[in-house]
Amino acid sequence: MARTLRLVHLFPELLNLYADQGNLSVLSTRAKQRGIEVKILPVKLGTKLDFDQADLVLLGGGSDREQAIVGKELLAYRQDLLSAIDLGLPILAVCGGYQLLGEFYELPSGEKVPGLHLIDMTTHAGKNRLIGNIAIEWNTNAQGAVRTLVGFENHGGRTMHDYPPLGKVVKGFGNNGTDQKEGVQYKGIVGTYIHGPLLPKNPHLADHLIRNALRYRGYSDDLGDLDDRLEWEAHHSILNRMQIG
Ligand code: GLN
Repeated sequence: MARTLRLVHLFPELLNLYADQGNLSVLSTRAKQRGIEVKILPVKLGTKLDFDQADLVLLGGGSDREQAIVGKELLAYRQDLLSAIDLGLPILAVCGGYQLLGEFYELPSGEKVPGLHLIDMTTHAGKNRLIGNIAIEWNTNAQGAVRTLVGFENHGGRTMHDYPPLGKVVKGFGNNGTDQKEGVQYKGIVGTYIHGPLLPKNPHLADHLIRNALRYRGYSDDLGDLDDRLEWEAHHSILNRMQIG
């Protein structure tokens, strides 16, 4: 059966810190290379949203200001999002977008940027920013998969939650710099602080998201192999730079 995926890219003009847009290019390219038709639906502020028309949602990172604008806009869709998440809608949320999934992001002044409270998670700004390359051990049960995920993080927020994380910090800071957890995995949600962008250097995670989207749409999640030696070189060069492995 011909397969089509609809990738909903939320507010690319506001949430594209450290080229998070690259995540969309990778998902789209890797899906198309497997013969999957891809429809990219970029969403601007003021556009009416219908999450029934989404097979995968992307939310990038942004400054605190942009995060506040997007949070306000999406609040009207909170119930729709909760229902879709319950059904397993795959969502990739990065940094500011990740924080927005939680209850709030509290600034040093005590002012709170409200989140969507889709999951029980809070973020408080720390005194300094957590910046640098990061490597984590991916919390996955995929057989034979490479376990490392690599990238770059730059955030003031310290995030706390009790869900399974995306992975365990090998080097870097992750959610808060203290509990060695990085990101979140809950139903179809993958939340993370990893930019860089995330997916060009982590093709295994890109395929994991594509498979989730295919299953969510009711298709077979079968994906053939690709020649992605360059992507893996990028992955390993970051690990080498960080003196890991
Ligand atoms: N509010 C975020 C912070 O903790 C935004 C950072 C980001 O998206 N890179 O700094």
